[in-house]
Amino acid sequence: MSAPAPAPGRFRGTVTVAAARCKGCELCVIACPVDVLSMSTEVNDAGFRFPLLEPGCIACGLCHAVCPDYVFEVYRYQDDQPSEQPQDDPPAAAGPPTPAGGLGLTSSPA
Ligand code: SF4
Ligand code: SF4
Repeated sequence: MSAPAPAPGRFRGTVTVAAARCKGCELCVIACPVDVLSMSTEVNDAGFRFPLLEPGCIACGLCHAVCPDYVFEVYRYQDDQPSEQPQDDPPAAAGPPTPAGGLGLTSSPA
C-alpha cells in the first residue's frame, strides 16, 4: 500500500483513539509524520499501552491506515478550530460535513 505524501500544515486535524481496542504495537507512533502520537504509561483492560495525541495533528490518516485494530478515527478541520481534542471526544460540529478524501478518513465537521 502506498499512501499519498502528507502535506504538513495544509490541514488541521484530530483523531479519536479507541484505547480499549489497542494492542500496543506502536505502528501508529512510527507512522505519524509529525510525531504527535506517543504511547501512554497507563494500560488498557487488556494490559496494553495505547497512543495519546499531542497538539499538531495534520489529519494525514497514516495512523488509521497502519493500525491493525481500527483504533483511530481521523477528522479534518477547514476553519481555525483547535487541532487537538480530548481523546474520546470527536470535534464539535460547526458546519456541514467535509469529505476527508481517499485516505480512509472519517468525514469531518467543517
Ligand atoms: S492523522 Fe494520525 S498520523 Fe496523521 S498527523 Fe494525525 S495523529 Fe499523526
Ligand atoms: S497501531 Fe493501533 S494497535 Fe498499534 S499501538 Fe497504534 S493504536 Fe494500538
